[in-house]
Amino acid sequence: MPEVPPESNRPAPPERSAVVASPQPVCAACGGPRDPRKREACSDKCRTELSRRRRQDALRARDDEIRALLATALKKLEEGAL
Ligand SMILES: [Zn+2]
Repeated sequence: MPEVPPESNRPAPPERSAVVASPQPVCAACGGPRDPRKREACSDKCRTELSRRRRQDALRARDDEIRALLATALKKLEEGAL
């Protein structure tokens, strides 16, 4: 088995929203340089920050969904009132 450079077998990052064409992997939380062997974040602190953001994003998406459903419900009510 020939030696494999460590970068070739690391899993692809699940999201690459910040910098797409950067040769250097960056931390998804602070945008700083990240160790390629670490996933997404450069430190525990940034990893915590990332999971916090994800939770907030999930909550926000849920709020948007509820808002859209309520708007639809209101529209239905208004239609019925005519
Ligand atoms: Zn970071």
